[in-house]
Amino acid sequence: MTVKVAVTGFGGRMGRALAEALKQAGEAGKAELSAAIVRPGSSLVGADAGEVAGIGRNGVAIVDSLENADFDVLIDFTAPQASIDNAAYCAQHGKAIVVGTTGFTPEQKAAMLSSADKAPLCFASNFSTGVNLCFNLLETAARVLGDDVDIEIVEAHHRHKLDAPSGTALSMGEVVADTLGRDLAKVAVYGREGQTGARERETIGFATVRGGDVVGEHTVTFFADGERVEITHKASSRLAFARGAVRAAVWLNGRAAGHYDMRDVLALK
Ligand code: NAP
Repeated sequence: MTVKVAVTGFGGRMGRALAEALKQAGEAGKAELSAAIVRPGSSLVGADAGEVAGIGRNGVAIVDSLENADFDVLIDFTAPQASIDNAAYCAQHGKAIVVGTTGFTPEQKAAMLSSADKAPLCFASNFSTGVNLCFNLLETAARVLGDDVDIEIVEAHHRHKLDAPSGTALSMGEVVADTLGRDLAKVAVYGREGQTGARERETIGFATVRGGDVVGEHTVTFFADGERVEITHKASSRLAFARGAVRAAVWLNGRAAGHYDMRDVLALK
């Protein structure tokens, strides 16, 4: 069965990458782009989605509302408020949704995730297979190295990214903090400047770099005395995220209502 997938934020960077990933999934008979949605009033309304995404005409006319879309699963990489609204729409209509947006406040994240009570929802701050494998590696490293190390997380992204630190960096911090029995909200240090005093062992430091066209790079370093371990992931194409999101959409189709993440999809739990 080919899963019918709608994409919101179709005119964005991830929207276009999703079009490419869905074209590949269509060739494998797994999933196809059934609707492409943009913001009301966008000049893209009515245009051919394939042409806009640069993958060749595909006969899917871009629309400006989910009301005009036919789909089994929605993939949403937009902005926090739009994702909250789109998840609520899916919950109301019993449709599955894959959310890749980042930059939620804790309240916004809770509001978006509350839609999982009524429909299947897969949310991940990073849909690449490699990053989700890294989460498991980080768990192992934190368990083995324990409280004998200083832990710092450095991430780099393109100049257009709106939120910092990245959702992926925060997820990495959460994995490490949870494994060590620490509360990330209490131990996170976001950047340092001036007379900071000596580093306290239980803190987890975050540093952000922005520039150029960097798709996404993350390094978590475990500093011990005499040695250090670095776990690094480098994305070189948005297709890595888009392919993962399409895989999640196929996996999610037909599941019970609930909150899932990419580690469920990849059976990494
Ligand atoms: P982008 O190029 O800015 O695209 C965002 C799209 O969402 C745009 O088409 C934008 O439309 C649309 N949008 C924003 N607010 C909207 C609203 N209120 N109503 C309707 N449409 C709205 O950004 P991107 O690089 O594709 O990234 C999108 C999100 O995904 C970001 O939060 C990013 O951090 C995240 N991301 C996650 C992953 C992951 O693996 N989870 C990977 C990459 C990116 P307009 O152009 O009309 O404003």
